[in-house]
Amino acid sequence: MPKKELSRREFLKLSGLGLLGLMMPLGRIELFGPEIEVPPEVKRWGMVGPDQKITQKEIDEEIEPNLIKLIDYMPGVVISDYALAQEAVLDPLMALSMASLNAGVRFRINCGFRDLDWQAQAYDKSKTNGVPSGYVAPPGQSQHHTGLAVDFQSYGTRPYEGNGFESTPEGKWLDTNAHRFGFVRSFLGGVNQKLFTPEESWHFMYVGEDIAAEHFRRRSMEPHLEYYEFMREMQYMKKRQEDLWDKKYYRYT
Ligand SMILES: [Zn+2]
Repeated sequence: MPKKELSRREFLKLSGLGLLGLMMPLGRIELFGPEIEVPPEVKRWGMVGPDQKITQKEIDEEIEPNLIKLIDYMPGVVISDYALAQEAVLDPLMALSMASLNAGVRFRINCGFRDLDWQAQAYDKSKTNGVPSGYVAPPGQSQHHTGLAVDFQSYGTRPYEGNGFESTPEGKWLDTNAHRFGFVRSFLGGVNQKLFTPEESWHFMYVGEDIAAEHFRRRSMEPHLEYYEFMREMQYMKKRQEDLWDKKYYRYT
């Protein structure tokens, strides 16, 4: 039986929340807002990280065949032959780049996809006296494995800890505009106890416009709301919403 579209008011009434639901703070009511559109690549790989590890076999079979060399399409922007990304990222990335040029900002891209070996090397290099810096995820847990993540830089700075990218015109512009093209700033210096992720002003991941816009909106209230925490919350809310639909909605129709 197909689900019928209901207005928020009707849904709240049917779900038993009624007046109480309408009086709840806006953020809460939006749990039951419109469906969020998630690109298939993001559905499959959007949670690669502490909770969803990816294997080299998965990378070989499901990621690599979809990779393109970004420099072939964006020669003035991409500085490395090794910057690869999933094809789905190309159009949004080009649109982002065009918009930045129109705004008088010229960022550069130096890194996209990484396989497990590359990540292992970067991870080892990031250690000081055997202790990982936190800026490089362990192999199997990096968003760069998915071909959806991109590292930006300005003409003057390379992306690394404390290089001040966040205060460059490029960093500032990306921070406030990338979400319009479906890119989320993944690491905001949050409190993920599994990853110990510090702030990374240069690292963005393509997640589609709906998720990116919602994450950006939430950041205005919770500046350190980390992407993974946000996604876990969204998934939990979706499940709650479906449970409510099953329990309440069907009973009334
Ligand atoms: Zn990165």
